[in-house]
This record gives sequence, structure tokens and C-alpha cells, in this order.
Amino acid sequence: MNDIARQQLSIQVESMDLLNGQIKMEAHASAAYLAMASWCEQNGFFTSAKFFFKQTEEEREHMMKIFNFLIDTGGSPISPEISGINHEFSSIKDVFESALQHEVKVTESIKNIVKKARASMDITTERFLDWFILEQVEEENTIRDILDMIELTGMEGVGKQMIDDSIEKWIEEA
Ligand code: MG
Repeated sequence: MNDIARQQLSIQVESMDLLNGQIKMEAHASAAYLAMASWCEQNGFFTSAKFFFKQTEEEREHMMKIFNFLIDTGGSPISPEISGINHEFSSIKDVFESALQHEVKVTESIKNIVKKARASMDITTERFLDWFILEQVEEENTIRDILDMIELTGMEGVGKQMIDDSIEKWIEEA
């Protein structure tokens, strides 16, 4: 993007670069959840797989929301390259713990962009990210609830089936 085009953005250049980083993060989350869906399918957690298939779609929607925001504000969204997707998990608990780690990182990243947007008086970007901040509260809360449930049921014997059966109610909420 040339200098004049960058000056005509309705958001700050720094925000645009940070939002491109966020696009990549959302795309990475989408790909990571697809790998988790695969693990769940292969290990007999079919409802959990459905949960992660839905999360995959949601993360792609998040990515596209930011992508389209950059288009609307005159920026240059970049289609991200994704690598390093983990397919190895030791248990269903490990899967959901990894998912929570992803969400916590995403939350921190979005808050960081909000802080920088605020510091540079980029109100457009700050307001745009309001929705994401609240969405992250829900995402983290859902996965924490699922991890609490896994603690209660345990992962041995009937616990394993109970975990998967219980995921159904979070598919709508997630
Ligand atoms: Mg997201």
C-alpha cells in the first residue's frame, strides 16, 4: 500500500497491521479446532467433534468480520498462511485445555489491539472490537464450563461417555 493510500485510511495504520495479525490468529484458531474435531472423531467423542466443527466455522466468521472491516475502512486485509497445527492430544481434557489456551491468547491479543487503538485515538477500531471482547467472554466461559464438567465426571469408564453426551448443550450456546 502506498503512502497516500495509508494516509486515507479511516483507521490507524498500526491498527491495520495489528488487525491483519488478528486475522491470522482467527484463521489459526479455525484450523486448530478442525484438528480437534478430527481427534474427537477418531477417539469416539462424536458430540465433541460437532462442537469443534461449529467452532471452526465461528472462528472463520470472526476472521471474515475483521477482513471485511479492513476493506470497509480502506485497508488491505491479508489472506493468512497457516502452519503448525497440532493434531496430537493425550485426552479429551487435553483437547479442551488446548482450546482454552487458544481463546485466552485471542482475548489477550484483542485487548492489546484495543489498548493501542485507544492510545492512538483510533475510535473506529476500538468500537469495532467491542463485539469481539464480549464474544471472548462467552467463548472462554463455555470452555471453562466444559473443563469443570470433565473434572466432575472424570475420564474413566462411563465418565468418557458422560463428557461427550454433555457437550450437546454447549453446542447451541457456543
Ligand atoms: Mg475468534
